[in-house]
Amino acid sequence: LIAYLNGQFAPLNELNISVMDRGFLFGDGVYEMIPVYSRRPFRLDEHLARLTNSLAAIQLCNPYTQAQWRALVLDLVAKQSFADQSVYVQVTRGVAYPRNHAFPAGETVPTVFALADPLELPPARAYELGVAAVTTRDLRWQRCDIKAISLLANVLAKQQAVEAGAAETIMLRDGLMIEGAASNIFIVQQGVIYAPQTGEHMLAGITYELVIELAQSHGLPLVLGEVSEAMLRNADEVWLTSSSKEILPIVQLDGRVVGKGVPGPIYQAMISFYQNYKATVMRR
Ligand code: PMP
Repeated sequence: LIAYLNGQFAPLNELNISVMDRGFLFGDGVYEMIPVYSRRPFRLDEHLARLTNSLAAIQLCNPYTQAQWRALVLDLVAKQSFADQSVYVQVTRGVAYPRNHAFPAGETVPTVFALADPLELPPARAYELGVAAVTTRDLRWQRCDIKAISLLANVLAKQQAVEAGAAETIMLRDGLMIEGAASNIFIVQQGVIYAPQTGEHMLAGITYELVIELAQSHGLPLVLGEVSEAMLRNADEVWLTSSSKEILPIVQLDGRVVGKGVPGPIYQAMISFYQNYKATVMRR
């Protein structure tokens, strides 16, 4: 595996950072995960735009131009021996001594790290039969729209799913369904798709935005707004979306069957729109 750190490409096991890196000490940084199919990054411009927004939100100067980011990702992709990849990009506020919560006073250089792993999509049976999810209280802060590397609450939430034998944990805040520990959530009730509108309590997923675009372009009824816990529990269909899982049907929630317990008709329509879209852009 060839990775990237601060201007250099090298084998992953040869790369090291300082223990004084603010990413390590404070979780002071942001990241992206970009899926790559047949060496072609999917929705790269959208991911880079979100990275720019995350950096601005934490007042970290973007170390590279969009063209430089693009080149970095494409160079990294070209160096791997496998074609389907998941590219992880992380920027932290860099190395500063002594340890102090406040931003370092002098010029600090952000630490830029990028890694391309083989893309491991869920197995075919997950798309065909669906997966289980559990729910939990959303313990995160109030700026979940920033793709921050400080993910402790997400880590704890995801572990609850693992311990329950489920694929994802859905977070509830003040009676509302927010998102998964590492995904966005859509529900379907009587043929209408519902999802929370973007805001400071959830991440605007690149896959979420694409699913909304596809629903609109194919004329599927879609409502963006508050989704209550009751709507989630009474849904005919529940889906999760993310760059590393695409769109997965959730057929069990907290041990109870969702709808008919199988991927529903609106899911089947959406996953085929998604696969067609992906095939079309990859052919360009
Ligand atoms: N919400 C959270 C908290 C996430 O970690 C992710 C995955 N990175 C998503 C939503 C889905 O975003 P995307 O579709 O851009 O992968």
